[in-house]
Amino acid sequence: MEMDKITAAPMSRRRALACGGGAALAGFASFSGPGSWLGRLVQRVAAGEAPSEVFPGDAPDERTWSLWVKRGWVREGSHYLKIGANVQCKICPNNCLLEPGDRSHCRNKVNRGGTLYTMAFGDPCTFHVDPVEKKPLFHFLPGSPAFSLATSGCVFRCLNCQNWEISQKRPEETKDPEGPELRLRPPLPAALTLEDVRRASLFPEDVVASARALGCPSVAYTYSEPTAYYEYASETCRLARAGGLRNILVTCGSIEERPLRDIAAWVDAAHVDLKGFDEETYQRLNAGKLEVILRTLKIYREMGVWFEIINLVVPTYTDNRDTIRRMCDWIVANLGPDRPLHFSRFFPQHRLDHLEPTPVDTLLAARDAARSAGLHYVYVGNVRGVEDAATTFCPGCKKPVIERDIFAVTRFSLVDGRCPHCRTVIPGVWS
Ligand code: SF4
Repeated sequence: MEMDKITAAPMSRRRALACGGGAALAGFASFSGPGSWLGRLVQRVAAGEAPSEVFPGDAPDERTWSLWVKRGWVREGSHYLKIGANVQCKICPNNCLLEPGDRSHCRNKVNRGGTLYTMAFGDPCTFHVDPVEKKPLFHFLPGSPAFSLATSGCVFRCLNCQNWEISQKRPEETKDPEGPELRLRPPLPAALTLEDVRRASLFPEDVVASARALGCPSVAYTYSEPTAYYEYASETCRLARAGGLRNILVTCGSIEERPLRDIAAWVDAAHVDLKGFDEETYQRLNAGKLEVILRTLKIYREMGVWFEIINLVVPTYTDNRDTIRRMCDWIVANLGPDRPLHFSRFFPQHRLDHLEPTPVDTLLAARDAARSAGLHYVYVGNVRGVEDAATTFCPGCKKPVIERDIFAVTRFSLVDGRCPHCRTVIPGVWS
């Protein structure tokens, strides 16, 4: 667990902003260096950019906090800085700067007495067994079940979020520590009510034991955003790997380099959302930064983590053909032609419920653009009745080698990871 201390004089974030930003903060930055986290914060403020949204004074009251502590749902944060009584999280580029009593942008972290704590540890708001194809991952342990879980919270603010009822909530809005304690571990109950789930604990060792008992070869950190429950995901990844299980991150990819490298050492596969390919749209649609996601993709490649890319095609936001073509060219040039790319159909939800679903022709045009850019494995998801939407073709002889019906593998022909017809290697993790 990394925790740095800064010896600079403490300064209230709100006070710093109130006193005019650039000039007042310039001196503060001078002893921290322009390339440091503090220098970057100063540059953001001086350039007129808003620091990340945090929730001043929104930490839980004493009673709620003591219930969370009693349940074991609290851990000290990792990767953060102390600045006097203030703290700054360094896990994602939001770099939340919290005064005592504040809550973070992702809603899961609070500053209590000058220490950063996560309230998302051992308290998932949902867990299921899903086919790995549902993540979606098509080149990773096909046909296998993945023990899948999530807590509340997210580092993004996607206008089209499918899971906003958990991603845009505090832990206190998804869990109930008032009732009798319920620690889940094998033998698992045959059925759980919603009330059970709201009060259930599932600590990292329980996740591993449960996944094994249910015959799942992998654990997937999914539904919301594992970066927002980084400490819980990291510890579970470590134990799962030690217990012979694989780890899958389903992520937006918005994470700082050091925590990414730390958790990636335990990750076997990632689904990374590449939500668009221009900065302005990323900011408007997701409140994120494209350059960070591209760095994440390159790091996964460098570290040898298997990953697949998902691009949700949102009408009027991310359906521009030229932009899609530029994205595919970038993938081929930087990640290679063998990187699977899934185009996914948008359906109206959350703050974009006024838009129509993505026309199927738009998705097929995106698939054509990706194939003509040179990508070998291009899929179309969230659609029915589209021929070969989820079929893997051998790039050598062009014959189908894996066929799927939505999330079910209906025919698997690879032999030792190779095409059975021409022996071309098909990249992925097959066993
Ligand atoms: S992980 Fe959460 S607390 Fe940490 S910087 Fe990102 S949004 Fe802020």
